[in-house]
Amino acid sequence: MLWSNEGVDMSVAGPTIITIILLVGLVIVAAVLIGRTTGPPSRRPERVCRAADCGTVNPPNARFCGRCGQKLD
Ligand SMILES: [Zn+2]
Repeated sequence: MLWSNEGVDMSVAGPTIITIILLVGLVIVAAVLIGRTTGPPSRRPERVCRAADCGTVNPPNARFCGRCGQKLD
């Protein structure tokens, strides 16, 4: 009677796996939505370090302009 046992296992495991997949999907969707609403935007204009002399846009963590060497604040 191995086939009957496998049938019982499948009937029990099937809905459980589907439920877990649905829950994981909901968690992922919720995490994406929360990240979009509360996460900071990837580009913030006020954070850009632009050299006043040459106008070169440097990385946000740059302390000196990569083109003219002007000190950035
Ligand atoms: Zn510069």
